[in-house]
Amino acid sequence: MKEIPVLEAFERNSDGMLSAWCSYCVEFHHHGAGEGHRIAHCTNEKSPYKITGYELKKVSKL
Ligand SMILES: [Zn+2]
Repeated sequence: MKEIPVLEAFERNSDGMLSAWCSYCVEFHHHGAGEGHRIAHCTNEKSPYKITGYELKKVSKL
């Protein structure tokens, strides 16, 4: 099984919804609240995240 990559995410609002920078799409991907494994929101078809998804890990500040 492939290892799941971890993306650093930050809370973008008071509801704790998370956003993470994607270096393959060169944009932020916006997700709901809570850390954990997510289906990739990648628009870059070559992004490896489209296969594995990624894990969101909250950091206090980017
Ligand atoms: Zn992406």
